[in-house]
Amino acid sequence: MTGSEPAVDVRGLRKQYGDVTAVDGIDLAIRRGEVFGLLGPNGAGKTTTVEILQGHRSRDAGEVSVLGTDPARATRAWRSRVGIVWQDESAPAELTVRETVRHFARYYPRSRDPDEVIALVGLETKATSRIKALSGGQRRRLDVALGVIGGPELLLLDEPTTGFDPAARRRFWALIRSLAHDGTTILLTTHYLEEAEALADRLAVVARGRIVAEGTSGALRERHGTGATVEWTDPDGTPHTERTETPTRTVAGLMSRFDGEIPGLKVSRPTLEDVYLRLTGQEDGR
Ligand code: ATP
Repeated sequence: MTGSEPAVDVRGLRKQYGDVTAVDGIDLAIRRGEVFGLLGPNGAGKTTTVEILQGHRSRDAGEVSVLGTDPARATRAWRSRVGIVWQDESAPAELTVRETVRHFARYYPRSRDPDEVIALVGLETKATSRIKALSGGQRRRLDVALGVIGGPELLLLDEPTTGFDPAARRRFWALIRSLAHDGTTILLTTHYLEEAEALADRLAVVARGRIVAEGTSGALRERHGTGATVEWTDPDGTPHTERTETPTRTVAGLMSRFDGEIPGLKVSRPTLEDVYLRLTGQEDGR
């Protein structure tokens, strides 16, 4: 493939499970070197999409090109260029972390150094522990290690940080940034909005098998997050919250009512989470 060709190019992707339409016409183009985030509620079709890109699930319709190849006709050489972090890795429980990572490294022609990868995911103190003795979050970090051991050009991560403690999540973010810095293209699904915002160059929000919005997190907030919330406290202690399209006018009105500082004044714009909930029809806790 040439440098200008997208790493992932999907057009009109559809997948049906019986009478459930899991993917209902998705178009997606991910540039080389980009970190792309797929967001969406449970059952939106993210895993199905990622599994089709991995070549592990068939599709009913659409064109799919991953690193210039249709994953439905994947070769061993193509697989060695694509790193996958499974939702549920089945590594042998009796092996140690180091043995497992070394074992997987042998499958790849250009694998990374196993101890370096173990350190990258923060498992160096657990290198000689058996897998069955790892905590859930440590198991997940091992899954990430197995996804990157082959030195992939493209890394596909389905909810990679589920079960991570906050420090492990930050370390994972640093890992993703360093991989991206070295030119790895990364597609990740996540339910953590702050993770998507921190990592992804671009995001797509999926709902009911379709992409309902796409762009940088800033562009999504700009395009779909109109209005602002103004909060203040009256002299008798009553708190107020006002949603408005013209926050400056609201604050000017308050300034003329209050002599001096407006108690408890706070003006906030919609967060990515507000925009996400609006786009996926889950606003107001629905
Ligand atoms: P989550 O955030 O919960 O992981 P998701 O966005 O990854 O959700 P998918 O796992 O792709 O969603 O599921 C999309 C739809 O397809 C759901 O309605 C799900 O129940 C259905 N589905 C997924 N896999 C299968 C399967 N193997 N057989 C039948 N239905 C399936």
